Amino acid sequence: METNVFTAASHGFVPKNSKQVLKEIFGFSGFRGLQEAIINHVIAGRNAVVLMPTGGGKSLCYQIPAIVRPGTGIVVSPLIALMKDQVEALRESGVNAAFLNSSLDYKESRLIEEDLRNGRLDLLYVAPERVMTEWFQDLLSQIDISIFAIDEAHCVSQWGHNFRPEYAELYVLAKRFPEVPLIALTATADGPTRNDIFDRLSLRNAELFISGFDRPNITYRVQEKNDPKSQLLSFIQQEHSHDAGIIYCQTRNRVEEIAEWLAKSGVKALPYHAGLDAKVRERNQTRFIREEKIVMVATIAFGMGIDKPNVRFVAHLDIPRTLEGYYQETGRAGRDGLPSTAMLLYGLSDVIETQSRIKSSELDDRQKRIELQKFQALLGYCESVLCRRSIVLSYFGENPPSSCNNCDNCITPPISWNGTVAAQKALSAVYRTSETFGVGYLIDILTGKLTPRVKDWHHDQLKTFGVGKEFNKAEWHAIFRQLIAGGYLSVDVEGHGSLKLNKESMAILKGEKEISLRRIEKKASPKERKPESSQKAFADEVEEELFEALRERRLALAREANVPPYIIFHDSTLLEMAHSKPTSLSQMNRIPGVGARKLERYGQIFLDLIAEFGA
Ligand code: ADP
Ligand code: ZN
Repeated sequence: METNVFTAASHGFVPKNSKQVLKEIFGFSGFRGLQEAIINHVIAGRNAVVLMPTGGGKSLCYQIPAIVRPGTGIVVSPLIALMKDQVEALRESGVNAAFLNSSLDYKESRLIEEDLRNGRLDLLYVAPERVMTEWFQDLLSQIDISIFAIDEAHCVSQWGHNFRPEYAELYVLAKRFPEVPLIALTATADGPTRNDIFDRLSLRNAELFISGFDRPNITYRVQEKNDPKSQLLSFIQQEHSHDAGIIYCQTRNRVEEIAEWLAKSGVKALPYHAGLDAKVRERNQTRFIREEKIVMVATIAFGMGIDKPNVRFVAHLDIPRTLEGYYQETGRAGRDGLPSTAMLLYGLSDVIETQSRIKSSELDDRQKRIELQKFQALLGYCESVLCRRSIVLSYFGENPPSSCNNCDNCITPPISWNGTVAAQKALSAVYRTSETFGVGYLIDILTGKLTPRVKDWHHDQLKTFGVGKEFNKAEWHAIFRQLIAGGYLSVDVEGHGSLKLNKESMAILKGEKEISLRRIEKKASPKERKPESSQKAFADEVEEELFEALRERRLALAREANVPPYIIFHDSTLLEMAHSKPTSLSQMNRIPGVGARKLERYGQIFLDLIAEFGA
C-alpha cells in the first residue's frame, strides 16, 4: 500500500506493511491465529468485531492498523491502569502513543491535544466519558483518524457483566466517521452480548472474528481440599517458587488470613480486597505489577485490567460460582504463552455452603434456578473424570478433542469405581434418620461411631448403624460430596445443611440406577504432584541461572525507568535468550520480542550478561 505512513520514522526505520511492523516494532516473527486476517481487514478500511480469549493477542489487532494507516488511532478503553500500561509498553517499543483520562492535569492534557492536532501520535487511548465530550468530538473532526478501536467492547451491553453507560453512546463514532474503520474487541461475549455489540455500535456491516477460547499453555487441575493451607504451600514451593501468581479466596477475612500465613511461611504474599484502604490496595497492586515473584491473595475484586503477562499460576482456595467466572479468572495466568497452572481446591463444604447461599439469597425463584444450574455446571467440571479442557470448551459451544494432555485428568487419568452400594448405604442413612441431619452425623452412623448424640437419638439401633465401616471418614466425605454434586442428595437450607432425598436418590435406593464414583484421592507424593507440563523447560542449571540473572537485570532496568519489568522484555523473550545464548546483536535481533528499538536500548546490556555466563 502506497499510502502507508509510519510516524515513528524518527527512529530510523520505516516499516511499510503489517508484517514489518510486527517484526521491527514488536519483535515478533509471525502472527497468531486470526491476527493477520483481522489486521488486514482493518487496514483495508473495514469494520470488525473481535472475540478472542484473554492473552490471545487482541492489542496488536488494532495497534498495527493504527501504525500502518495514516493518522492517529483512537482507542477507547475503560481502565485507566490498563491504558497507562499499554502506552508505556508502546513507547518502550518506539511507538508514539499517549492517553487522555482523568489522571492527567490540564497542562498535560493540553500537551497531548497539541500532539494530536499536529499528527504526532500513532495511538491515543481515551476513557469513554472523554470521547463523548463536545470538546473531544470537535477535536476529532479536525484531525486524521486511522482507526477507532473499542476495547472491552462487552461494556456496551446490558447483558454483559460490566455494563458502562458511556459505552452505549459510542455508536456516534460509526455514524459521524463512517469512513474510519472501527474495531470492537472483547474476551467475553455470549450470544446476546455479541448481538448487542453489533446493534449498539451501529456495526451491522462489520465482520465477526471469533478465535477459539482454548488456552493451551495453562494446565488445569482440581484437587480435593483436605488441608488447604499446606496444599497451597507445597504447590507454591514445589512448582512455582520463583513465580508470580494469584490466589483467589471467597472472603476478605480469608484473604488476610492466607496472605499473612503465606508471608510467615516465606512466600512474598500480599492481600487485596475491597475492604482494604485504597492506598494499601493500590500499593499492593503496583508491587504485584512492578516486582517479581509476588503472590497476590485476593477476592475477585482483583484482576480486571491486570495485564501482567507472566502470572504463572492462579489458584482458587474456594469454589467459584460459575464456570464462566472460573475460566475468566484462570485466564489471567500465562498471557505470555508460557506454561502456567490453574489449580482449584474443592471440598464437600464448598458444595453445601454455596448451594445454601444461593438458595437462601434474595434472588427470585427463576434466578435462583439459573444460579444453581450454573453452579451445577462447575460441579460437573470438578467431579468429572473427563478432560477438563474439553468440558470447559464444550460448555462454551466449541467442539474440542476429547483429550488435551495438559490437565490432571489427562495426565493421570482418574479411576472410577461402581459406587452404587456405597451410595445406597449413604442414602438409606439419610432416610432412616428422617432427613434431618448433616453429613458429619450421617458419617458417624455409617461408621458406627457411638457418640452421645447418637445414643440420645437411639440411632445405634438403626439397621444402617455401622454398615459403612469399609470406608473412613474422609472417604465417606468424598462419597457424600459426589452424591450432592451429582444431584443425588439435596441440601436443605432451612434445615442448616441437613440432607434430603429426591427423585434421583430414590432411583438409586430402588436399584433402578447405578452410580459411578471417582476414585478416592490418596495424598499424592510430591513427585506425583509435579506434572512436567507446568515446568519451564531448562536444558541445564546454567540455563536456569542465566534466566534468573537476566530477570534480575531486567528488574534493575525497570526500576530505573520506572516501568513494570515485562515492559522491557517478556519472560518468554528472556527464556529464549537463556536458551539460545546470542553472541551478537544480529543474533539478538532474531529473538522473539526484541524489536529494533529494544535491540538498540538493551541488546548490548543483555549480550554482556550472557557473555559473562560463558556462552
Ligand atoms: P489480550 O489483549 O488478547 O489479552 P495481548 O494483546 O495482551 O492479549 O497479548 C497477549 C500476549 O501475547 C502479549 O504478551 C503479547 O506481546 C503476545 N503476543 C501477541 N501477539 C503475538 C505474536 N504474534 N507473536 C508473539 N507474541 C504475541
Ligand atoms: Zn485434558
